[in-house]
Amino acid sequence: MLLQSDLATSKPTILVTGGAGYIGAHTVHLLLQRGYEVQVVDNLSRGHRHNVDPARLHVVDLADTEALCGVLARHPCEAVIHFAAYIAVGESTRVPELYFRNNVCGSLSLLTAMLRSGVKRMVFSSTAAVYGMPARVPILEDFPYAPVSPYGESKVMVEKILGWFDSLHGLRSISLRYFNASGAEPGGTIGEEHDPETHLIPLAFRAVETGQPLTLFGDDYPTPDGTCIRDYIHVSDLAEAHILALEHLLAGGGSGAFNVGTGTGHSVREVIAAVDAVTGRKTPWVAGPRREGDPAELVASADKLKRMLHWSPRFTSLRDIVATAWEFESRRR
Ligand code: UDP
Repeated sequence: MLLQSDLATSKPTILVTGGAGYIGAHTVHLLLQRGYEVQVVDNLSRGHRHNVDPARLHVVDLADTEALCGVLARHPCEAVIHFAAYIAVGESTRVPELYFRNNVCGSLSLLTAMLRSGVKRMVFSSTAAVYGMPARVPILEDFPYAPVSPYGESKVMVEKILGWFDSLHGLRSISLRYFNASGAEPGGTIGEEHDPETHLIPLAFRAVETGQPLTLFGDDYPTPDGTCIRDYIHVSDLAEAHILALEHLLAGGGSGAFNVGTGTGHSVREVIAAVDAVTGRKTPWVAGPRREGDPAELVASADKLKRMLHWSPRFTSLRDIVATAWEFESRRR
């Protein structure tokens, strides 16, 4: 077992799957800043080569257990941070087989490679989608699993597999259930670049830039302004949660699941107002029908993460979060 005091000197190597993606690349950046050695596995199907130093990138598919064993043999790792997965809720309802194969079978292949290689710690990217349409907010970690999409179900399945691997194989894991990841590290080169883009903030920027209106998915929800409320969490604060979860595991801590959100919700109209304020322009938008599977309100209780892992977000203002996203957007144009 590694002690906290060893961490200052020994700089363990961490394998990051999906390190070429938005949240993964931010976490790799922070790990390197904190002195960890990092190896990245990514098949580049959704991530971007330009997000990773080629010296640490292994273009490997999670399904390839042998190749994963090879990476772990050449680069012995203390722990894995597992981001690699498909994340589009709508797509998961059209091609569920893709989501179960990549997200569930891929994770199982990775876990098999970890066991064969003697790596017994994982930080896992989970999601608020495991709660489905919760009856109340803020959402606590002990609310029941109730996913309403194959995407959410795929994450529930992996969380459950991790529970069995903890009790049967002693593989310790922390599942981090993300709320709405947004923003970009100020001054950095990484940001939201999904293709196709489905997320509100980058789509609002696109509307500002092109003049093509953003479609607001429903304005008749039972919320104060009729639009959906979400908990927007800055990607660098998410990355920090991964480091804290990792260090908890490296110090011999047990398995668990934690929400990662700010605890404050904002409506779609409030996001549009923040985009207007940050860009100095009016976001064109039209009200459209509701998007299937969208709950009216998703807001985290992040108390457990704060209490047990001593996490506290750097970014608590929506406007500041949107400003960091706009800075990235402006830089890449
Ligand atoms: N949304 C919207 N128009 C869009 C994209 C998103 O009105 O073009 C809304 C969506 O219904 C949700 C919120 O913005 O209430 C955040 O959606 P996003 O897809 O960014 O994240 P999600 O909450 O689905 O993870």
